[in-house]
Amino acid sequence: MTKPCYIAETLFDVLGFRVSFVADKIVFQGQGDLQSLILFENHRFGRMLMLDGATQVTTADEFIYSEMMSHVPILAHGQAKQVLIIGGGDCLIAEEVLKHNGVARCVQVEIDKAVLDFSKEYFLEWNRPFFEDERVESVIADGMHYVADPANHGRFDVIIVDSTDPQGPGAVLFTRQFYEGARRCLKGGGIMVTQNGVPFFQADELVGTMGIWRDLFADPYAYIAAIPTYVGGHMAMGFATDDKAMRSISVATLEKRFAAAKLDTRYYTPEVHKAAFALPRFIRDLVEKALSSG
Ligand code: SAM
Repeated sequence: MTKPCYIAETLFDVLGFRVSFVADKIVFQGQGDLQSLILFENHRFGRMLMLDGATQVTTADEFIYSEMMSHVPILAHGQAKQVLIIGGGDCLIAEEVLKHNGVARCVQVEIDKAVLDFSKEYFLEWNRPFFEDERVESVIADGMHYVADPANHGRFDVIIVDSTDPQGPGAVLFTRQFYEGARRCLKGGGIMVTQNGVPFFQADELVGTMGIWRDLFADPYAYIAAIPTYVGGHMAMGFATDDKAMRSISVATLEKRFAAAKLDTRYYTPEVHKAAFALPRFIRDLVEKALSSG
């Protein structure tokens, strides 16, 4: 009986624990332009991608994260035409964004071409629209440089920062300089959402972002979702805008927009959207303390 091959996620080594997954088959293992990549098959989670020892996406549970990072800002906005994705190399969030017929342009800025080529080769069953839809503009660049370019300022209704954690090339996407540049890329009334880790283990990711947004946006806050392979309970997603109506939107209005968008979702509903902003006390305290402390 051959011993199962386990692949360990080393992201939480600093916290003294590891999560390991049986690899029924290792599809690819190697070095990308900037990060180590491993892709393997697991009988429960399907195809799994890890970058630098951190789980990025699995085909079994990606729908939760992809739907909440795309439909929440787009349906809250209501008239999103120009969408910018920073990171997102697996192209699964873009696939959800492209389901919105009202979206005229979806620009994705990914730093590591290897991740994109990889996703085309191994995730096409899930992200094909990204490679076939003419509304897509795929840019290989550092998101920091893209948002610093005045040519991109004032262009976008929605910005989705689907980054790695603040390590390696992803660290710069959690800085004030990046958020200031991203803010300039937003049109008036625009919305930016970000991945901010799992607060139970990665509170700094959320607190750091909220502490910067306190001075940059009129209505910075966060919402949550539970993604099985982002270990640690709730995942936090930042939500920043200057238009307070975006977060206080009614379920009735969301239902109208959801029906009109004819989206076939597995996690997102207008009620889940609204409920996602009702933060459990320990997460709410992290957010509100960071937003209030001068
Ligand atoms: N959902 C995943 C998570 O929460 O950890 C992230 C998925 S996505 C694969 C993250 C992407 O961000 C990677 O493809 C990585 O190459 C890209 N990335 C990291 N730093 C970047 C930067 N500075 N500019 C643009 N893309 C970046």
